Amino acid sequence: MEISVSTQNRYQLIDITDQVEQVLVKEKVKSGLCLVFVPHSTAAILLTENESGLKNDWLKILKKLVKDEQFEHNRIDGNADSHILSGLLGQGKVLPIENGKLVRGTWQQILLVELDDPRTRRVFIKVIKT
Ligand code: ZN
Repeated sequence: MEISVSTQNRYQLIDITDQVEQVLVKEKVKSGLCLVFVPHSTAAILLTENESGLKNDWLKILKKLVKDEQFEHNRIDGNADSHILSGLLGQGKVLPIENGKLVRGTWQQILLVELDDPRTRRVFIKVIKT
């Protein structure tokens, strides 16, 4: 299953937990594994708490990591920061499924991280039943 997510800012965290959980309901899976993957090298999937302050903290740290760096890739399209942060955070996560639900902590939501200019991002949600 593929979903599309529109982003609005160069750095942005968007909660997609509900969309992922809807896929599990549609696929009627009781037990298995759920892959959430972005086929993009300037976006990421992050498991963290969807709280506005914490999301701002994440963005602050991510921007600080790449601030003032003289990236060689920027001579091509000016987005070395986006590629590097995407690689560091990871472009996919796998979560267990038990009793038809994702196994995750109360404060462990699934967030798409936009790290480049806003656009429509593709997210693949693949379920393996066990
Ligand atoms: Zn690039």
